[in-house]
Amino acid sequence: MTKPLLSFEFFPPRTDAQSRRFWQTLGCLETLNPEWFSVTYGALGSASNASQDTVAQLCKQSDKPIAAHLTCAGQTRAQLLTTLQQFKEMGVRHIVALRGDSTPEGSRSKYYTLRFGLELVELIAEVGDFDISVAAYPEVHPEAESAQSDMKVLKLKFDAGASRALTQFFFEPEVFLRWRDAAVKQGIDGELIPGILPIHNIDKVIEFSRRCGASVPTPLIDRFNSANTELAARQMSIEHCVDLCQSLRHEGVEKFHLYTLNQSDLSYEVAKSLLGVKAGSVAA
Ligand SMILES: Cc1cc2nc3c(=O)[nH]c(=O)nc-3n(C[C@H](O)[C@H](O)[C@H](O)COP(=O)(O)OP(=O)(O)OC[C@H]3O[C@@H](n4cnc5c(N)ncnc54)[C@H](O)[C@@H]3O)c2cc1C
Repeated sequence: MTKPLLSFEFFPPRTDAQSRRFWQTLGCLETLNPEWFSVTYGALGSASNASQDTVAQLCKQSDKPIAAHLTCAGQTRAQLLTTLQQFKEMGVRHIVALRGDSTPEGSRSKYYTLRFGLELVELIAEVGDFDISVAAYPEVHPEAESAQSDMKVLKLKFDAGASRALTQFFFEPEVFLRWRDAAVKQGIDGELIPGILPIHNIDKVIEFSRRCGASVPTPLIDRFNSANTELAARQMSIEHCVDLCQSLRHEGVEKFHLYTLNQSDLSYEVAKSLLGVKAGSVAA
């Protein structure tokens, strides 16, 4: 089996302490020679400055390609075109095009604003110059009318110019594999990259999963709750992620997108194990 290709997702640091941890994490993960890094973008442009600043610094300081997330909810075409131009000037060639989560303020805007991720994909494709990734939901986006309509939207995004979909996290391989089958049936032939979330804190994961429509299997929750020490929980998390990815690799999955939460430890250990990197050596 060839080595998998990995990408790592970060959020923009907002404080000095977060910034220190961000750069440490990045430096650590960079040694594993990932395919690219990505930086999230706050919905409704709320964290746009932090995100753009982080992307600008990363473009200067890392020799890895940087994917900039961009959300369109509540933003006008003109605002989005300006941001795209700024990203282009920084050297960004890859945009993760997202809707973001709307707020009542956003939807009350008196200006015409983009409503769906698809409209952003269309806008970016019109501009040209960018490789486009989009989000996808193996367990269906919580606002979708149905699994079928969610999949149709994804197909439209590929038709509009997206090259790959990065999925919401999930915890069982079958969830991704069933969804991948449905995507292929829908005629999608672009890259489908699983989003992998190492579990740092099971309670927070349960809470977040409830909001984004992902399910956390009860046996997994029970295993974490029975861990006696932090070290045992950490080991469990690494093993679970590695097993999940290895099962997917046996089904032909070659790329993984890791949600780092700006913490290097678990993502680093998972990635090292997937790449077969021994302690003390550097990934090829
Ligand atoms: C890999 C990944 C990265 C993310 N990064 C960020 C980030 O950086 N910043 C951030 O704020 N959020 C981020 N998110 C979260 C994302 O913004 C939310 O999940 C958001 O609710 C949906 O975004 P979307 O682009 O999938 O939206 P859309 O594609 O617009 O879909 C949203 C909902 O609307 C439905 N829909 C879409 N188009 C239509 C249509 N034409 N007619 C009717 N219904 C439609 C869909 O089925 C879905 O239910 C990320 C999610 C993932 C999976």
